[in-house]
Amino acid sequence: MSDTQKDIIILGGSYAGTSVAHYTLKHILPTLPSPESYRVTIVSPSTEVICRPACPRALVSDEYFDQTKLFVDLQEQFAQYGTKFRFIHAHATGLDTEGRVATVTLVGDGSQLKLDYHALVIATGSSTPSPLLSLNGGGRDALKENWKTFRASLATAKSIVIAGGGATGIETAGELGEHLNGRAGFLSSKLDKPKVQITVVTSAKDILPVLRPAIGQAAEGYLAKVGVDVIKGVKVESVSPSEAGGSEITAKSEVKLSNGKTLSADLYIPAYGTTPNTAFVDSSLRVQDGRVDTNPETLRVDKAGPRVYAAGDASNYARPAVHILMEAIPVLAANLKRDLLQAAGKTPPSDDRIFKADESETHLVPIGRSKGVGAAKGFKMPSFFVWLIKGRDYWVSMTGNTWTGQQWAKET
Ligand SMILES: Cc1cc2nc3c(=O)[nH]c(=O)nc-3n(C[C@H](O)[C@H](O)[C@H](O)COP(=O)(O)OP(=O)(O)OC[C@H]3O[C@@H](n4cnc5c(N)ncnc54)[C@H](O)[C@@H]3O)c2cc1C
Repeated sequence: MSDTQKDIIILGGSYAGTSVAHYTLKHILPTLPSPESYRVTIVSPSTEVICRPACPRALVSDEYFDQTKLFVDLQEQFAQYGTKFRFIHAHATGLDTEGRVATVTLVGDGSQLKLDYHALVIATGSSTPSPLLSLNGGGRDALKENWKTFRASLATAKSIVIAGGGATGIETAGELGEHLNGRAGFLSSKLDKPKVQITVVTSAKDILPVLRPAIGQAAEGYLAKVGVDVIKGVKVESVSPSEAGGSEITAKSEVKLSNGKTLSADLYIPAYGTTPNTAFVDSSLRVQDGRVDTNPETLRVDKAGPRVYAAGDASNYARPAVHILMEAIPVLAANLKRDLLQAAGKTPPSDDRIFKADESETHLVPIGRSKGVGAAKGFKMPSFFVWLIKGRDYWVSMTGNTWTGQQWAKET
C-alpha cells in the first residue's frame, strides 16, 4: 500500500456491504480528485452472499431453489473493478476509532490484520438464534451442513415446535407444514391428522405483529391448512437441553411454556429476534440492544469520528428489512461522497442528504408454496399477489441484481 492510498473499509458483505461497495466504486470514486488513490475493501467471513429471506424455504430442501442463485460468489461480483476492489476473508474483531484502525481476524489461519481506514462502513448485520436461518458469521458450507443435519431428522420427526410469531417463524412453519404434511383441500379449513404436529408459540397477542391483527388471523387460517397450530400470548420460558435448536440443531427437547404447559419436540426451532454482529464495536458506540448508534438521518456514526457510517441490521437506523435498507444506501453513499470530497479539499456540491425510513405497513409473508398474507404501503395484499411478488422464489432471482451491482447502475 502506498503512503497516499486511502482505504474505504466495509465490514460485512451482504445486502448493506455489497451495495455500498458497488455504489462507491461506480458513483463516488470517479468523482474524487486522484481517484486512483482510493480502494474499496469488503471484509467478510463468508466468500458467498445469500438471499437470506429465502432461508425458511431453502432449509427444507435444495429442490426449491437453484443453488447457484441462492449462494453467489462475492468476489466474482467485484471483478469488474480490478484493483480498485479488495476482498478480505475475515471477521472484524476490533475497532479503534481514535487511531482509525479496524482489526480483522483471517478465517484461514486466525492471524490478525490491522486495517487503517480513511472511511469505514459497519455492515456486519445480525445473527439468528437458529443456525438454519442465516450465515451467522460462517460460510455457505457450514449453513448447508446444518440444513443437511436438520433434513435428515425430518424423516422421523413427529413434532416440531417453532418459537416466534414474526415473519421468520411463520414462514418456516408454513414451509415445513406444506413440505411434510401437504395442504388441506379447498373445502377444509384445517388439515386433519397432520403427519407432523407443528406448533408455533408466540408471546404476542397476534402473529405477524408488524401487520394489522386481521392479517395475522388470516395467516393462522393458512397455517391450519398445512397442519400448523398457533399458541398465542404464551412465552417459551426454557428449553431442555438448553442448546436444542442452537448448537444441537436436532436435539429432542422439552419446551416449557409460561402457561405452565410443556411441549415435547422432536425438533425445536428458535425463530425469534436477531443479535447484531457488533461485538467488535466499543459499547460506547452501541445502543442497549447492541446495534451501532447511528444518526438515522445521515447514517453517520457521529460518535466514531469523521467518515464512519452504519446501515442494515447492525445499525439502529431503522427496523431490519431489505426494502428499507435499499432506500438507505443512496443516502449513505451521498453523505460518504460529500465527506470524501470535503476531506480531499473540495467543496461538496450539496448539503447532507437526509434519510427517512419507510414506516408504512409493508411486509409480505408467504405461507407455503402457493399462499401468503401481507400489506404494501398500508394496502392489504391478496394471497395471490404475495405469492407472485415473494412466494414464488423469495426474491432469489431478483437479488442477483443487487449482488452484481446492476441495481446500482444509476446514481439515485
Ligand atoms: C430468516 C430471515 C428472513 C428474512 N426475510 C426478510 C424479508 O422477507 N424481507 C425483508 O425485508 N427482510 C427480511 N429479513 C431481514 C433481512 O434479511 C436483513 O434486514 C438483511 O439481511 C440485512 O442485511 P445486512 O447486510 O445488514 O446484514 P446481513 O444480511 O445480516 O449480513 C451481514 C454480513 O456480515 C457478515 N459478518 C458477520 N459478522 C461479521 C464480522 N464480525 N466481520 C465482518 N463481517 C461479518 C456476515 O457473514 C454477512 O455476510 C429476513 C431475515 C431473516 C433472518
